Amino acid sequence: MEGEMPQPAASAPDAGTPIMPGDGKPSLRRFLGDAVNMFKGMGVTFRYIRKPSRVVTREYPENRETLKFPERFRGQVIMPHDANGDHTCTACTLCEKACPNGSISILTTKNTASKRVLGAFVYRLSSCTLCNLCIEACPFDAIHMGAGFEMASYSREPLDLILNKKEGR
Ligand code: SF4
Ligand code: SF4
Repeated sequence: MEGEMPQPAASAPDAGTPIMPGDGKPSLRRFLGDAVNMFKGMGVTFRYIRKPSRVVTREYPENRETLKFPERFRGQVIMPHDANGDHTCTACTLCEKACPNGSISILTTKNTASKRVLGAFVYRLSSCTLCNLCIEACPFDAIHMGAGFEMASYSREPLDLILNKKEGR
């Protein structure tokens, strides 16, 4: 509008000025609160120094041999085999269909009775998100989430796994 003067832009705070919550000024109350919190934290540290048996931190990898995993831990997908090296997979492909990112391929073959059986259970650990959907989809309890978690690799090839030890059931 004619005759209206342009307003100056609001100035930004100086780069070196600390931004404080609340009214922007340090206060005795805040200082005392911070001091109390600091002593609470130090109290926890000293309690664990006095009673090291109560320390809950797991010192990996020193404790690798004695690591205990919770029942619902989700490591990489595994296919359990019995003492004879057999598994319970029927090659029904439900897990393959349930996998949202194509990490499973079920390759089938025929046994001597011309029955369609599992040839290879291909599991691509490199793309698996450990979501558990394949495990839930399996009607024969043929695959589980294992406890494997050391999955680092310099290339993808070692992460393409065949889970079954032999063809068929
Ligand atoms: S855990 Fe999830 S991502 Fe991994 S293979 Fe199973 S369905 Fe696919
Ligand atoms: S693992 Fe289970 S769901 Fe997957 S093909 Fe085998 S039997 Fe079917």
